[in-house]
Amino acid sequence: MTLHHERPLRSTISIRKGDQVRIIAGRDAGKSGRVLSVNAKKNTVVVEHAQIIKRHTRPNPGKNIKGGIVEKEGAINVSNVMVVCPSCNKHTRVGHNLLPDGTKVRACRRCGTTLDK
Ligand SMILES: [Zn+2]
Repeated sequence: MTLHHERPLRSTISIRKGDQVRIIAGRDAGKSGRVLSVNAKKNTVVVEHAQIIKRHTRPNPGKNIKGGIVEKEGAINVSNVMVVCPSCNKHTRVGHNLLPDGTKVRACRRCGTTLDK
């Protein structure tokens, strides 16, 4: 007899790289931008021009790195961002639509527009 206690390691993040998202909580609440990367393990996303962190770097002439302060986007927890629907232009929860051929696609919960191309 086999027990099925372990849940399959599948990402529950409904945000994909390239999505337009709006930040709803945290320091940059209200800002929106494009998702640059998604970290499914840490449940974080990196959004362009948001959560800017200043990194103080030491000059490294061997690698052609100049010293100083580098501004870089930091990771934001996925629960603090929401996908912006390109159709109704509002941040929305993501639902799923089933296409006639059986494919699951992400969809806007407000207007039903498919978010995946
Ligand atoms: Zn919509």
